[in-house]
Amino acid sequence: MLLLLSSFLVQARSSGGERYLDTVEVGGSRPPAPTILEAVLKQCVSAGIDVSMPFLFGCLKVGSTQEIGMASINITLPDGSVRELPSGASVFDLAASIGAGLAKAALAGKVNGELVDVTASLSDGAKVEIITEKSPEALDIIRHSASHLMAQAVKELFPQAKVTIGPSIETGFYYDFDVERPFTPEDLERIEAKMSEFAAADLKIGRQVLSSAEAIGMFDAMGEPYKAELIKDIGAETVSVYSQGGFADLCRGPHVPSTSRIKAFKLLSIAGAYWRGDEKNRMLQRIYGTAFVDKKELEAYLNRLEEAKRRDHRKLGRELDLFSFSDEVGAGFAIWHPKGAMLRTILEDFERKEHLKRGYDIVVGPQILKTELWQRSGHYENYRENMYFTEVDEQGFGIKPMNCLAHMMIYKSQLRSYRDLPLRYFELGTVHRHERAGVLHGLLRVRCFTQDDAHILCTPEQLDAEIKGVLSFVNDIMAIFGFDYEMELSTRPEKSIGDDAAWDLATNALLSALKDTGRPYEINEGDGAFYGPKIDIKLRDCLDRRWQCATIQCDFTLPERFDLHYIGPDGEKKRPVMVHRVILGSIERFIGVLIEHFAGSFPLWLSPVQAVVLTVTDNQIPFAQEVHAHLREAGVRVQSDFRNEKLSFKIREAQLQKVPYMLVIGDKEVEQGVVTPRYRDGKNLAPMKPADFVDFVALECKNFK
Ligand SMILES: [Zn+2]
Ligand SMILES: [Zn+2]
Repeated sequence: MLLLLSSFLVQARSSGGERYLDTVEVGGSRPPAPTILEAVLKQCVSAGIDVSMPFLFGCLKVGSTQEIGMASINITLPDGSVRELPSGASVFDLAASIGAGLAKAALAGKVNGELVDVTASLSDGAKVEIITEKSPEALDIIRHSASHLMAQAVKELFPQAKVTIGPSIETGFYYDFDVERPFTPEDLERIEAKMSEFAAADLKIGRQVLSSAEAIGMFDAMGEPYKAELIKDIGAETVSVYSQGGFADLCRGPHVPSTSRIKAFKLLSIAGAYWRGDEKNRMLQRIYGTAFVDKKELEAYLNRLEEAKRRDHRKLGRELDLFSFSDEVGAGFAIWHPKGAMLRTILEDFERKEHLKRGYDIVVGPQILKTELWQRSGHYENYRENMYFTEVDEQGFGIKPMNCLAHMMIYKSQLRSYRDLPLRYFELGTVHRHERAGVLHGLLRVRCFTQDDAHILCTPEQLDAEIKGVLSFVNDIMAIFGFDYEMELSTRPEKSIGDDAAWDLATNALLSALKDTGRPYEINEGDGAFYGPKIDIKLRDCLDRRWQCATIQCDFTLPERFDLHYIGPDGEKKRPVMVHRVILGSIERFIGVLIEHFAGSFPLWLSPVQAVVLTVTDNQIPFAQEVHAHLREAGVRVQSDFRNEKLSFKIREAQLQKVPYMLVIGDKEVEQGVVTPRYRDGKNLAPMKPADFVDFVALECKNFK
């Protein structure tokens, strides 16, 4: 959704692959009811505003043919065919000329690539596409229209509420209101009911262009200071105002033609939000909602939301006793309990092995480095607010937010020849970054995390093969975890360093590696870091959510700033290329994603506890102890429950802990010297000797089952 308030577009930002995208688009909205209209007009008069202008409510000719002149225009349709229409014809007229069904289905138009209302008049030679519910653009238009519908309902129920902004977002929409008291869940129900009422009333939605001065006067008169402020900031000569049933709102549009086209919506939650995201400003009340083209899709989405709640890693982290956070320790610092720490260890061991297999060297750098070094790298200048600093013996130190610097010092510790390259330094590097308190979220956004970080230093000629190597590494790892993923290439931004040849080389290497995978990818033109192009990879979990994991970034600055070089075949000093890359990204976040993806039921190879030995009565304890010891010594992660409790109770508890295998030891097992493994879903394996169970577990783990 494009909105006119570009000055408030909060850009999705990413830094070092560690920040995920909180994309917030900003739109406009605002409302009076039919009775309010008169009052507004009176206010306008008393404020000296010319109300003789065709005010916003007189312009609603949706679906009707507007002044049609004598001349005619030619319009090109997506299939290349050309239609002749009377001049002044609208998108709607075009749809109607094709068929009554299409006219009924039309939600908006796309004219020369730009989305417009169905009422927009067309000019000669335009390329036009009719947007219907089936078009990919429809959802955003519906959601944005739903946010206006919500604002209309709020103004109806809470006339004192002041409207601010209401954009569509990736999962639906929101709208921020300035109200005297916070909204309650009961308010949400009333607002939603009012929205349904307005939707059923099939109110026409109209658009009018006003001069900024007129619009400011109007919103001031309506007691909507936020809108007036926004228009001043936009600083355009004219702005567009949308109205429906006496409710008017500043907006660029487009919108659906009438409120009945918003057929499936749901209000979801309430949150506090500062005006313009600035803590110094007034706290507003934000209502989040979602909308879909039909009820079926809405239902499916709401079910997914429920499922996501059930899988919430913070809830499961507590229930499975994996990790905790403590105010006494500090927000954003995870504390790993035995089972969580085991899960980390399994992942870390796995990563070390996989990296060694692919020719990486494991290195370890210090946690704090002199401030001067951060100044040299540019972090002090550009990233200081996110760093922690300390001082000892009058020497300043910065706690590392990235692992690159020590790796470069290792490179510089010797004279390097082209024959030594590529060098691939891998570190499970723990970094600290000061994130704002408001963005912290369980393990998904923390202030201390460990990256599976590596830096590849190679000759320009080697770059191609190195990038391909990293992409195939990513592919192998994602397959092991069973994740599908998406790739994006971000190219050179306007402000950047490095010469054209270097950018071309790196961009081509990334591009050719992407092509080589045979998988689809997207290109974000101009979205790369100032120091080099990059590939971002997002995995898709079982709820179809995207999570940033791997990034591959080429860097032209650091080798320059640290004067890295190698001796080429011609005996001359040359600059190596530096590639920063992570595969899983942050181990913390990856674990958060794994917990939600598997709903805590980890596959055997990842399970912190793989089996639990259960006794039926105390008679079996000696044999059960033997089994436990055998398994533990053989490397199976095993626990036991010999309590004098009912077996069903002990099984239930192990199931809640999502332990893959329960080994129930009864008299029969003791007699025959066997175990009967029972999987957490209730299926039994055949009785087997403990040693055979050890082999079974080892084989499953080897195959990442
Ligand atoms: Zn709007
Ligand atoms: Zn790095």
